[in-house]
Amino acid sequence: MSHKMIKKIMKEAPLFKGAPTKLLGTFLDKCPTFKLQKNQILIAPGEHNQYIYIVLSGTLTVHLDKPDNPPIRNVENGGTVGELSLIGSSKTSAYVISQGISNILMIDRENFWAIINEMPIVARNMLFVLSRWIIATDKVTLENQKQIAELEGIARVDGLTGINNRRYFDELITRFLKRSEHGKEPLVLIMLDVDHFKKYNDTHGHLGGDQALIAMAKTLHDTIRPGDFVFRYGGEEFAIILPVTNRKQCNSVAERVRVAVMNTKISMPDGSPLPSITISMGIAESIITGESVEDLLKRADEKLYEAKEAGRNCFCI
Ligand code: GH3
Ligand code: MG
Ligand code: MG
Repeated sequence: MSHKMIKKIMKEAPLFKGAPTKLLGTFLDKCPTFKLQKNQILIAPGEHNQYIYIVLSGTLTVHLDKPDNPPIRNVENGGTVGELSLIGSSKTSAYVISQGISNILMIDRENFWAIINEMPIVARNMLFVLSRWIIATDKVTLENQKQIAELEGIARVDGLTGINNRRYFDELITRFLKRSEHGKEPLVLIMLDVDHFKKYNDTHGHLGGDQALIAMAKTLHDTIRPGDFVFRYGGEEFAIILPVTNRKQCNSVAERVRVAVMNTKISMPDGSPLPSITISMGIAESIITGESVEDLLKRADEKLYEAKEAGRNCFCI
């Protein structure tokens, strides 16, 4: 290796910053160099890696999972790849790909440890080099976590009304019922169903019906207390969970909800008014001795049926 080349590496490679030129030269002289073509893969995940590669010219990009994923890092002149798997004796964890033609110097395991032993400054530099990898992967982890949170949000939201969906209902009712048993505090489940909604749809069209459901969901959401939960259970049926509430306390909630829905203004997207709707409700208080979700739901449904029989626009408990 030419003296000029060693000088260039010393200047550009964070790993060799401050290392004694002559001594480093004796080690690097033993290291082969090679050329990578455009898009050539230097490292793929799951390999046993025996080398640290230093970029002499060109650009390498690092990709997790798939080679066509966006790069987590670009490695350019003086930058290194392979050090994590070499030091950790672990399998490689990413794709490293050459973006154009790149010239690479490879240092094998034996030579690398000899350099570290002879030049403690290189060991110090290595700490900084490794920290770059931690930062890059931390960033990706954070992005992934954000995406997961977003997807979880979507999975819990009803597409039409924007309130909690059936899936989230199943998850929460199970959780609250268990908590209610442990805490020996009852919870109340209210099942709501729009009255004569088939006729509403027939008269005002499916779009009109959808507008009614959207307006009603907003009313329910605005009427319940912050610790309570409302869900679109399916179609024109909704559910409300009132944690830590007994049947006495829920009467006033149900009445407030009934009146609020009745008074909700509904309109078509162009602003033209539609008639208001009414709802019927069936209410069940959890029995503390290990009742299943299914049984609780069944009791609320039976009460809902009673409310319909009783003439609608009312609740039964
Ligand atoms: P009841 O008072 O006994 O509940 O009568 P109903 O007409 O409301 O009951 P039924 O179950 O016969 O009809 C429910 C209607 O709700 C039929 C269905 O088309 C309508 N529906 C269900 N989901 C949606 C929806 O997402 N959008 C619209 N526009 N209508 C829906
Ligand atoms: Mg129904
Ligand atoms: Mg109905």
